[in-house]
Amino acid sequence: MPWKETDDPYAIWLSEIILQQTRVAQGIKYYHKILERFPKVQDLANASEDEVLSSWKGLGYYSRARNLHTAAKTIVRDFGGVFPNTYDDILALKGVGPYTAAAISSFAFGLPYAVVDGNVYRVLSRYFGISDPIDERVGRLRLQQLAQECLVTGAPGDYNQAIMDFGAMVCTPALPQCVACPMSLHCRAYHEDRVSNLPVKAKKIAVRERHFLYFVIIRDQHILLSKRGRGDIWQGLYEPPLIEAKEQLSNIELAQKASLLLGKDISHRLLTPVERTKQKLTHQLIRATFYHFDLEVEHRDFQWFALTDLDQLAMPRIVDRHFKKMFSSGLQASLF
Ligand code: SF4
Repeated sequence: MPWKETDDPYAIWLSEIILQQTRVAQGIKYYHKILERFPKVQDLANASEDEVLSSWKGLGYYSRARNLHTAAKTIVRDFGGVFPNTYDDILALKGVGPYTAAAISSFAFGLPYAVVDGNVYRVLSRYFGISDPIDERVGRLRLQQLAQECLVTGAPGDYNQAIMDFGAMVCTPALPQCVACPMSLHCRAYHEDRVSNLPVKAKKIAVRERHFLYFVIIRDQHILLSKRGRGDIWQGLYEPPLIEAKEQLSNIELAQKASLLLGKDISHRLLTPVERTKQKLTHQLIRATFYHFDLEVEHRDFQWFALTDLDQLAMPRIVDRHFKKMFSSGLQASLF
């Protein structure tokens, strides 16, 4: 992994933010692409939000990109463009939590801070036979303390990398390699036959279901889009005009709501769904339905974009995928 061969805190920070919610294989491509586009923290700070989001296109969880952008501006404004070199200053950057701060501090600056991620929780709770739930405060605190006590302070970066790799490759969630494991001699879970019961989680994550009804309106090789605002998922990303509903709507209800949204009476139209699809986020399940039609609309909430510029715009993955399908299947040509 390229970020293991550098001690540049900017590059390490970028890799850690990418890896928060992206697999390594996919992350490497973006790591190179974003470093090429913004080689220094100043380049990132001086970019526009649209440029930053567009470089993130395809990675999902765009709040990471917005936080990177904000933190880069902080580094330029408050630290003269030099990456901060204390744990507390790193932790204070937007989008950086205790795990990421410990990773950057130890990998880039050799500071003695133990990382605690899902791998570390799993390894420590099994090795020490701890059954306190890892999604409750008491359990987390106990394991965080233990992680700090186990840290090899002379080589914190190597230790942190090793325990995470060990969790990812040997002490894995489903099929840990206990028989071949070099730690099995002293592993409590292994000797007490509790490996499959650890770590313990107390609660299930509640998932909220939402219905997004999108109106894809294309006219003269232009498409109508709006930019999502603050206070909800996908802030700053572009999408077609949208109605959110608690459930699927009848055609009459849908046409009435669409008329209000677009400021045009389309209540006489039969709106046929072109695609129904879904996207699962950590706490939400988005069910999206796409409707296509041709309409002349001028509305201050929406903007027309040339179809040839779509590639430059950051969009929610569910919308991006729909557009790709639409163009590759010739659907667009047949409908408009
Ligand atoms: S013996 Fe099994 S459970 Fe214990 S540390 Fe090794 S892989 Fe993990």
